[in-house]
Amino acid sequence: MEDELLPVTALSHYFFCKRDPYYLYVVHIPEPITETMEAGKQVHDRDTFQAFLRKLEPKHFFRKPVLRSAELGISGVPDYVFITKHSEILPAEVKYSPQAGRSSLKSISQLVGYALILEYNYVYRGNELLESGDAKTKTVVKRCAVYNAYSKKVDTIEITQELKNRVLKALEELKSMIQSGEFPSVRQPWSKCANCWYRRYCYP
Ligand code: SF4
Repeated sequence: MEDELLPVTALSHYFFCKRDPYYLYVVHIPEPITETMEAGKQVHDRDTFQAFLRKLEPKHFFRKPVLRSAELGISGVPDYVFITKHSEILPAEVKYSPQAGRSSLKSISQLVGYALILEYNYVYRGNELLESGDAKTKTVVKRCAVYNAYSKKVDTIEITQELKNRVLKALEELKSMIQSGEFPSVRQPWSKCANCWYRRYCYP
């Protein structure tokens, strides 16, 4: 069922700190919207589409498609899915962060999540992204694209099998943590905790 699917955004919370999704999905304490998040939203609303077009020269695109996979247990809405002239499928997002465009999991875990959903549950046929349901797909997603609102540049990033495996493992851990409700034991540098909104709960 749709409501039972975990949002893909849970992955970036997980790769930031395992306690982050605990606060969000186990004890339901959402972080208030910050100025950076608001700024990010405004950039999303502006037309960054031309930059993606210049970089990818796609033959087709989908703007904010709702993607889901019951098998993976996740759903989400990337900013775009592009289809190149060679029929390559790339999920793409606009990011408001100086680190955007790096291939670290903290920065691209959501895009790896979208890549996995596309591989598990979608085929591109007749100019449409179709859900395959229970049928296995032959879809392979090898890259994603990121528009960095700081540099105003689009980077393409390789999505290796290793990245996919790490995200699949993280998904399993996330689901089991949410199911058990166990408080994760973590060790994070103080420099990270000092800037984290959940510090008030970790260090009351
Ligand atoms: S304060 Fe530190 S340990 Fe707690 S959620 Fe934030 S980063 Fe993780």
